[in-house]
Amino acid sequence: MTEPIAKLSFWGVRGSTPTVDPATWRYGGNTPCLELIAPDGTQFILDCGTGLRMLGSRWAAPNSGKAPETHILVTHYHWDHIQGIPFFSPLYAENNEFHFYSFRSRFLGRDSLKQVFETQMALPYFPVNVSAMNAKRKFKEMDGGDSFKVGKNKVTARWLNHPQGCLGFRIETPAGTVTYATDNEPGDAQLDESLLELAAGADILINDAQFTPEQLATKRKGWGHSSWLEGAKMARQAGAKTLVLFHHDPDSTDRMVDSILRQAREEFASVYAASEGMVITLGAPGDRVQAHLPGTRTALRREAQFHAKVCGVTEGGKDFEEETIVRDISLQGALISLKHLPRLQSELQVIMEAPGPDGVQAMNLRGYVVRIDAGPEMGHVAVGVVFTD
Ligand SMILES: [Zn+2]
Ligand SMILES: [Zn+2]
Repeated sequence: MTEPIAKLSFWGVRGSTPTVDPATWRYGGNTPCLELIAPDGTQFILDCGTGLRMLGSRWAAPNSGKAPETHILVTHYHWDHIQGIPFFSPLYAENNEFHFYSFRSRFLGRDSLKQVFETQMALPYFPVNVSAMNAKRKFKEMDGGDSFKVGKNKVTARWLNHPQGCLGFRIETPAGTVTYATDNEPGDAQLDESLLELAAGADILINDAQFTPEQLATKRKGWGHSSWLEGAKMARQAGAKTLVLFHHDPDSTDRMVDSILRQAREEFASVYAASEGMVITLGAPGDRVQAHLPGTRTALRREAQFHAKVCGVTEGGKDFEEETIVRDISLQGALISLKHLPRLQSELQVIMEAPGPDGVQAMNLRGYVVRIDAGPEMGHVAVGVVFTD
């Protein structure tokens, strides 16, 4: 019998507002939207930020065979968590059925999320009104402490500490447990305790990491967000296996997120920084949590033959040094065949030999590991790096 596998995809990871600054493209600029496909085929969507549009454009109806049905959990009503709704094309197709879950806001009252839909698409904010959406839509209210089952999966909600309220969700599937805790500021004893319960023993804890610990202690105190350090503490305390840093600040460049990730990895063993297009599978035999990053965006690629020395750190955390030949290079990065398995999202130093006017010269580049695939030769892996320096 094959092991049950769940697949978690990151369609939007940026907090507050979308970014299109090229300095943020590696982690991505779309606002929060995640998709979790449970082993029984149940499809969950977590939040409806601008990443939802991307998910809609690659839409594959869930539960093939039966009537397609999707469960959408919305944490709260701030723009960055709802602004993808009018642009989610599957909502305009009558064969689709969506079950939305969110809380009753004291500012909106009964049917809060339904009202959000109608208001977002009211004149003059959007060219068509909500009646253009033909898909079946059902709305359910959840409160902190509520839970429900869909197929073999259990969803539990808990309140987090955020202006105007926010729910965190725990989804238990037969392949493992995912806790989604974005938009939360630590420091309220009761709500810290509810996050601890939500994250207890989770395979993956997705935690708000918008601010640095310094910002959180000073200028950004009371803004409703957390830091990588608080995430690492919570992961350790809750016994979570893997921490994913999420809701990156719109002002954080890729280099800043790299540095945040580096610091978090010194505090907790298994950490990733959420990256648009990243897919994490749960439940595979052996390595139960596996992360994959998408290929780098289109760039001019050329085959080449550069002798190179590569220095980096392995998946197991050991330094390595290896001689190889770089066969595929673009102006943004390279695909390098290595015997060592470097850690995903770690830094590699690549020193290539290039012919110069006075003989062979060393070309020293700093790269960042964005993908790892099976290599063309036995015992090798193909490592995709983006040059950062
Ligand atoms: Zn947010
Ligand atoms: Zn918020």
